[in-house]
Amino acid sequence: MSKIIESTGKKIALESVVHCPKCGFESAEIMPTDSCLLRYQCKNCGFVMTPTEGKCCIFCSYGSVPCPPIQGMKVPGLEE
Ligand SMILES: [Zn+2]
Repeated sequence: MSKIIESTGKKIALESVVHCPKCGFESAEIMPTDSCLLRYQCKNCGFVMTPTEGKCCIFCSYGSVPCPPIQGMKVPGLEE
């Protein structure tokens, strides 16, 4: 099972490890490619993460890998 896809010649990682700022819990999550995740609840402490200032989604804020659109993937509906 590949967690890397290719889009317009770029390799895009789909798995990001979300790091809870409150308890430090880490959870690997598969990122959706068709939308940005704006809310994510920590599976350990229940803290609800929302994007930090200047970031588009919780993966860009708390994840080990930024979301697919930021990595360079062309996503229909998310173009600027
Ligand atoms: Zn937590």
